Amino acid sequence: MNRKDFLKTLAILPAIGATMKIQELSNLTREFGNTAKMPVLFLGHGSPMNAIEENEFVTGFRKVGKEITRPSAILVISAHWETPGTYVTAMQQPRTIHDFGGFPKALFDVQYPAPGSPTLAKETQQLITHTKVELDEKWGLDHGAWSVIKHLYPDADVPVIQMSLDYRQSAQWHYDLAKQLAALRRKGVLIVGSGNMVHNLGKVEWRRLSETFGYDWALEASEKMKNSIRTGDHQPLIQFRSQGKAFDLAIPTPEHYLPLLYTLALQEKGEEVALFNDLAVAGALTMTSVKIG
Ligand code: ZN
Repeated sequence: MNRKDFLKTLAILPAIGATMKIQELSNLTREFGNTAKMPVLFLGHGSPMNAIEENEFVTGFRKVGKEITRPSAILVISAHWETPGTYVTAMQQPRTIHDFGGFPKALFDVQYPAPGSPTLAKETQQLITHTKVELDEKWGLDHGAWSVIKHLYPDADVPVIQMSLDYRQSAQWHYDLAKQLAALRRKGVLIVGSGNMVHNLGKVEWRRLSETFGYDWALEASEKMKNSIRTGDHQPLIQFRSQGKAFDLAIPTPEHYLPLLYTLALQEKGEEVALFNDLAVAGALTMTSVKIG
């Protein structure tokens, strides 16, 4: 439909409800028109202190932010939002959630006032048929989202929405769901998985939180994961519970690992994959991050 026909249709629509619908569609087209394909990221977020510290990881986040085309909006799948069912944040102005304890006041003072995007939330809801996606008005931006996104877009001027992880579902289910987000890449949307590939807080050496070293099992799991990522062999990563002891130690619970699968599922044929921030921290965490496309 060209613009003239579109306006004509709008003018003759008798019912207000229908008019609203058409206006919403018009908004979608205006805000999220077709663009060149955006890359997809997995960001290892690590300690919340990365939000306010200066270190090599922060430098890596800033660098990748400068490398990629400025997105029209960001969709984050964060380790820190697990729900029964799948939700997308749909509020106009998401709050900054300080979902951690025992950190300095300076970290609790951080605000990341990026706007939300009800339009993108609805578009995401419509796009997914794999499951029923609900619109959420209560969450906001958890530290899995803001502690890293703030380094990519420090002015908080790119709208951000989050999609939750349904904790009842399998890794394969999450991978399949993620594939349905593919069309957003061509609408200027930057999709970001935020977690950590190796993440065992029970084995972290808390007194050495800013030191870069990994235990043998952490490095072993990390190497295997990176090999699969580099070769595009995602099946072993989806079947992560059948990969032996190092994987079991690296992934004691799946929430920090699953966002990686969202990112990988969006890799299209022939797309390049680059790793950055590829270091282990405090023995039992890896900050390894992935850029696809
Ligand atoms: Zn985390």
